Amino acid sequence: MNRQEPTARVNIQVWKPAALDEAYSLLEQFAPNVCAASGSTLLQLQWDKGILPKQHLVSLEGIEEMRGISVSDTHVSIGALTTLNECRKNPFIKSALGCFSDAAAAVAAPGVRSRATIGGNIASKIGDLLPLLLVLDAELVVYQKELVRLPLGDWLADENDGNAIVTHVIIPRAEGERVFYRKLGRRQAFTGAAAVAAGRFLKDGGIRLAAGHADITPERLLESEAKWMVSGWDPHELYETLLHELPFSADAFMSAAYRKKAAANIIMSELMAEGGN
Ligand SMILES: Cc1cc2nc3c(=O)[nH]c(=O)nc-3n(C[C@H](O)[C@H](O)[C@H](O)COP(=O)(O)OP(=O)(O)OC[C@H]3O[C@@H](n4cnc5c(N)ncnc54)[C@H](O)[C@@H]3O)c2cc1C
Repeated sequence: MNRQEPTARVNIQVWKPAALDEAYSLLEQFAPNVCAASGSTLLQLQWDKGILPKQHLVSLEGIEEMRGISVSDTHVSIGALTTLNECRKNPFIKSALGCFSDAAAAVAAPGVRSRATIGGNIASKIGDLLPLLLVLDAELVVYQKELVRLPLGDWLADENDGNAIVTHVIIPRAEGERVFYRKLGRRQAFTGAAAVAAGRFLKDGGIRLAAGHADITPERLLESEAKWMVSGWDPHELYETLLHELPFSADAFMSAAYRKKAAANIIMSELMAEGGN
């Protein structure tokens, strides 16, 4: 008799709560064998790579309070369940925060963007939109037994955020400030980012810089920002600081050094175009 090796099989139980407290309780109850799901596009990628799904999946899609887009004179608030297609096309986001809707167009491809959410992009801590959100000083509203508002950078740095659910991202409008966002990949779509770099030239002369790539948590480039603030900054010194500071790693296709050079070249070209030294 032919014997087949058993293949790994997981019976997944999908929960569909309609409220945040219910979702949070489920995440607490089934930890660590549980995972939240929004569009499930990143989860699907992970499953395709052989990472076994958790036994319990808590779908957030029925939680109405995680939806909605509002724009004030100073901020844009986007519900975590907003898809990336909506981020790209929504006329209020487009007019108040054009750099953000343009950047959303660089994630994955249209079919994926129609399911993928901004909340999933942020909560994964590796999403391509994070460097831009960091330079825009975005804040998150997060549910952890109660709603808390905190800077995106703090959320990214916290490794013990447990079952926290991202409900909204709040982005200050960068009116009158030049913002750049560049994603480098090996082709136009359906490709992990070789490097993502973002920057914002503040009205008061300051700067925000951040960078990342597929599979790492992006970071602000604080040493390089400080170098830019020195009057008469030296381009060679700033370039070396970028190479040293970029938190990049290698993968099967690219060395860390290659990624660093690519991102440093993008950032330097933007700094030189802005001038100021
Ligand atoms: C073919 C393909 C190409 C892709 N290309 C890109 C790309 O170029 N750039 C890129 O950034 N991404 C890419 N992705 C990944 C993915 O589409 C995006 O990152 C997307 O924004 C994730 O959103 P989601 O709603 O699908 O997240 P999900 O897959 O549902 O969840 C992602 C992670 O976040 C958690 N999570 C989801 N929502 C919340 C929440 N509100 N609160 C707390 N935790 C939450 C989940 O538990 C999970 O760990 C690609 C995916 C595919 C399938």
